[in-house]
Amino acid sequence: MSGKLTRRGFLKKTAVATAGTAAGAAVLNYASPHLLPEQPVFQPNRSHWAKYQIPVNPSLGEDCEADVAIIGGGYTGLSSAYHVLRNTPSRKVVVLEAKRCGNGASGRNGAMVLTMTADRFIVFSADPAMDKRIYDLTVENIGTLREVSSSAGIDCELDTHGALEVFNTPDAVEAGTAYIEKARRLGFPFEFWDRQRTKDAVGSNRYLGALFDPNSGQVHPMKLTHGWKAAAEGVGARVFENTPVVSIEEGSTHRLRTTGGREIKAKSLVLATNAYTSKAGHFRNTVVPLHAYIGITPPLEEGTLNEIGWRSRLPFFDSRTLVYYLGLTRDNRIHIGGGRVDYSFNSGLAERGDGESAYAALKRELVRIFPRLAGMNFETTWSGLVDMTPDFAPAVGRTGKHGNVYYGLGYCGHGVNLTSLFGRIIADLELGLDSRWDTLPFVNRTPLYVPNEPFRWLGVQGALEYYRRADHIE
Ligand SMILES: Cc1cc2nc3c(=O)[nH]c(=O)nc-3n(C[C@H](O)[C@H](O)[C@H](O)COP(=O)(O)OP(=O)(O)OC[C@H]3O[C@@H](n4cnc5c(N)ncnc54)[C@H](O)[C@@H]3O)c2cc1C
Repeated sequence: MSGKLTRRGFLKKTAVATAGTAAGAAVLNYASPHLLPEQPVFQPNRSHWAKYQIPVNPSLGEDCEADVAIIGGGYTGLSSAYHVLRNTPSRKVVVLEAKRCGNGASGRNGAMVLTMTADRFIVFSADPAMDKRIYDLTVENIGTLREVSSSAGIDCELDTHGALEVFNTPDAVEAGTAYIEKARRLGFPFEFWDRQRTKDAVGSNRYLGALFDPNSGQVHPMKLTHGWKAAAEGVGARVFENTPVVSIEEGSTHRLRTTGGREIKAKSLVLATNAYTSKAGHFRNTVVPLHAYIGITPPLEEGTLNEIGWRSRLPFFDSRTLVYYLGLTRDNRIHIGGGRVDYSFNSGLAERGDGESAYAALKRELVRIFPRLAGMNFETTWSGLVDMTPDFAPAVGRTGKHGNVYYGLGYCGHGVNLTSLFGRIIADLELGLDSRWDTLPFVNRTPLYVPNEPFRWLGVQGALEYYRRADHIE
């Protein structure tokens, strides 16, 4: 046969095929954003927390000029406005929110107020001193949440009696014990709770132990949003709701346009748009929006609560990668979130049609934790968007051709506390006070690259499937 394949020929063909595939993939990766423009979608918040209604402001009715324009009326945007004006009260600051403040993750989350260390929640980096600094900053920031809300006249139901990471497996106990020992040597106030103490605290015998952090806690997410909104307005910010920004023309003075055709000119722009950020044309290759689910029970009778035995009332999350997290509200409702998260092709933001199976899985997990709740249905279920980065770490900083675009994002489901620390950092960077923060690892860091479709979809599905199997999540 004339077409006999020699070793050299085979290698040559393989090299050509590999190079061709790589070139094709690169072209597809480059062309994909042009072929598949991302659609901004702002669906109403159906969460339990949204039953608490913050008075809504009018939309922007005329063109305006500002020193700082902030897109997004969640914790990041509202706290950035507050801190910019605390730094310089005379400046003009506008917040532009597509729907109502708290319509995004800030009004839909799992209510846990968590401390953290360098690159993510309680995982040590190579620099213990930096870990401790960040832990202390996040503890201090929880104090700020209390002060800011109460001075704005809003009781955001902040309880800071601590929170637990509960361990599901013997491996998690072993790793947790070693971790806590190291943490205590470094000056962290964490405690290891054994199986019995954990059961006495949360009422479930499913867990083999726990890490207790005395400085974390819980909050009413929408009331916290109200606190930040009232505080920002109290120092002079103008907050416009039902005002989606549809285009951004960057410059030394930015020009933003809203769906209502209004123009905003501003010298500085803050992107406080979380999982929606890529829709504004930024961070498309940084943030992956994931759909996360929560269910909440009706208020439990005193007798049922006693039988469950969640005596400490401490919020807790488990030791899986795709964590389950639970809280008990002041009016005795139990909420559970986590486990399954979903990615929609092309970073789709619209609510998914398969939510019911996610809520059914949450219900099954709730009954596994508290068998006494068999037969009880959730009163409300909802989903929200989490802004994941591939390395599970957040980022805050400055970008743009003119160095006047600021951002805080990539909270990966741990933003209730961190967002407003980032609001403070954004305000300082905007004023040129970089030296206060530039040693922190998440300031102006370059997050890992997320490829475009279809590679993103394939990569995220693969990663989620890996975590589901590792965590034994249905
Ligand atoms: C289900 C769920 C559970 C969570 N649980 C916890 C938890 O227990 N503890 C914890 O610490 N963290 C938790 N998080 C994460 C936390 O809620 C977020 O990190 C935090 O709320 C992010 O706040 P933000 O202000 O950056 O974003 P968001 O609150 O999402 O605000 C962004 C806002 O920008 C607006 N916007 C976007 N684009 C535009 C535009 N073009 N024009 C105008 N407005 C725009 C959106 O409408 C939105 O209101 C959870 C998140 C979810 C979704």
